[in-house]
Amino acid sequence: MKNFRRSLRYVWPYRARLALAMLCAVLIAALWGGGLGALLPGMKVLISDEGLHGWAYGTIAGRRLGVRLASQSLPPGATIPFGQRRQVVKSVMSVVEVRPAGPAEGLLAVNDWLVGLGGGDAQPVLLPADLLAQRIAEQADGREVRLLVYSPMRRVSREVRVLPQPGDLGARVLAAVARFVPRAPTYRERFGTLLWLLGFAIVITALRDVLRFLEEYLAGTAVWRGILDLRCENYNVVLRLPTTFFSEQGVSDSMSRFLQDTAELARGQQTLFGRTIVEPGKAVGALVMALIFSWRLTLLALVAGPPAFLLIRAFSRRMRKASRRALESFSEMLGVLEETLTGIRVVKAYTMEAAERRRFLRVNRRLFRQQRRMVRIDAATAPAVEALGIVSAMAAVALAGYWVFQGAMDRERFLSLMACLAAMFDPVRKLAKVPARFQRAEAAAKRIFDLQDQPQERHLPGAPPLPRHRRSLCFRDVSFRYPQASQPALSDINLEIAAGETVAIVGPNGSGKTTLVSLVPRLLEPTTGAVLIDGRDVRRYSLRSLRRQIALVAQEAVVFNASIAENIAYGKRRARREEIEAAARQAYVDEFVSELPDGYDTVVGERGATLSGGQRQRIAIARAILRDPAILIFDEAMSQVDPDSEAKIHRALAEFRRGRTTLLIAHRFATVLEARRIVVLEAGRIVDVGPHAALLERCRLYRQLYDTQLAGPGASGAS
Ligand code: ADP
Repeated sequence: MKNFRRSLRYVWPYRARLALAMLCAVLIAALWGGGLGALLPGMKVLISDEGLHGWAYGTIAGRRLGVRLASQSLPPGATIPFGQRRQVVKSVMSVVEVRPAGPAEGLLAVNDWLVGLGGGDAQPVLLPADLLAQRIAEQADGREVRLLVYSPMRRVSREVRVLPQPGDLGARVLAAVARFVPRAPTYRERFGTLLWLLGFAIVITALRDVLRFLEEYLAGTAVWRGILDLRCENYNVVLRLPTTFFSEQGVSDSMSRFLQDTAELARGQQTLFGRTIVEPGKAVGALVMALIFSWRLTLLALVAGPPAFLLIRAFSRRMRKASRRALESFSEMLGVLEETLTGIRVVKAYTMEAAERRRFLRVNRRLFRQQRRMVRIDAATAPAVEALGIVSAMAAVALAGYWVFQGAMDRERFLSLMACLAAMFDPVRKLAKVPARFQRAEAAAKRIFDLQDQPQERHLPGAPPLPRHRRSLCFRDVSFRYPQASQPALSDINLEIAAGETVAIVGPNGSGKTTLVSLVPRLLEPTTGAVLIDGRDVRRYSLRSLRRQIALVAQEAVVFNASIAENIAYGKRRARREEIEAAARQAYVDEFVSELPDGYDTVVGERGATLSGGQRQRIAIARAILRDPAILIFDEAMSQVDPDSEAKIHRALAEFRRGRTTLLIAHRFATVLEARRIVVLEAGRIVDVGPHAALLERCRLYRQLYDTQLAGPGASGAS
């Protein structure tokens, strides 16, 4: 769970929200326990003979007198000898316990019946239990009550004077509730009281629901804000990864880590700050109530805990594995999708739809299999845990039943205990799925942090800016090997280029031309040797200042989904409109722009889909012009450029190159001729350097290239 823990760093800034959410969770748990605690006895009392008010006043009266009282109904027609006569009594308050040092100590004894109130000079009155209890409960502080007491053992009655103690907080709350709830004079009319009780239940539930909403909302927003920060941080990391990372890993895997993995992580965190806090609270609330009712039975009901724990752990481990594989499959699927969709023209042109469909089905199936496994684990967890829990709970119920039938436990307590155990198992069942959720999030977090921990492009801290290039560009003993390649892509490159010079680079495919020019803006770093600008090793200077001086026009001109003006201004912040249009004119962009509906504000579609190859490259040149670089790297487009475009590109370049050091990767004769010196590469080595005529004479490879590639079949005959 190391990575999952690490992911929590991102929600830490939102801890105030989380603290509030947790407060809500605690309140929810308290209401859960409290609601049970209040409602169950409430129902119980309501059903019993004494009724809610009888119970409440009886409890208060008992507290004030320092005794415990139980209301007791007498058989119809029962009488008590009182004075000279016997009087009919329906119910009495029987003393169950006398608290030592209470007001009634020594005055009342266990089993005494409280039957009425003495009236001083007036005739004593016998009262039914509930009215008597109310009179005692409501006696003003500091005033005596005269109790008529009958001892059923000795069959004698007496009058006792007791000074009730003031009611404590609990007694006062109870009295307020009893006054508030309308009193039902007969057993039948208690239905109204039941409705009151249900109303109370609704209020408690509504309060809990409001709290639950707040809890989920606060925790959820904290989590998603954290994810927002995490995504931004990862985006920064991705922008600083070396380009070789993407050529090796592909981009879809990183994309998938941004999409699916962060979503999975968020789900895990939401569970952590939601269910994991609320449910244990509820379970503990119910557990406390259950322990109060009977700790022995509750412990018996909990023996299933340890085996359930082991089971859950085993399940959650499997879940992590399945989750990791599912995330991998997801990224694979994204890869296939990306390839098909970006290459849709080729797919259609080569009628490869069926093959692509099969390929997609394969990865989609693989993903499905992992997801099915996850669903299986998820679905099995709760029932398995419940089955275990039920067995031990039933054992507790059996024992409790035995006690009840033996008379060792009263019925209400039994029923309350059952209700509490049931209330406890529900949250436990929900919690059973939590560890698996965490493991899913852990698998996702690991992939996210694996990406985040990739070695980045080297930035020397505090590196000075590189002064603008004005003398030379030099490759000194440069070799380069791609991280996973067995052969070096470049070996022993030594080349000095004067500032303002144009050098063409030619060579067969794979000879290292792109690799060589990529070393200049440090898109790649030499394995050995160094690239020097004006004699300064570029690695010692800030990457930003180096790249600012370089404009790169790649073979596949990259055009973003934005307006043409924005595309030209890419790389130069706060470019003025006139500058943009001037650059566009210089690169012959204005020609086709004037035909577009919105001119420079026309949005060109993703990857410049609405433009031709030649137009895209001209936009790229305009972008380079606007940047005003000291060094220009131009990788000539091999295809997609019509002769008219090509001529314009050359004219634009010829003007633009003036005063700038230029590296041209040439695929056409016309381009080669722009350079006074031509570098011939073969298998990563420089085989010759010189002007066209000299090379044609002395370099076999150059001649070969000239015949097959540069001049093209038609041109070779003409020269
Ligand atoms: P060119 O531009 O002349 O066609 P490159 O510079 O693209 O050649 O490639 C030079 C060599 O490096 C080739 O053998 C190619 O297979 C290899 N290569 C290019 N890119 C990578 C990469 N990302 N990882 C491993 N090898 C690569």
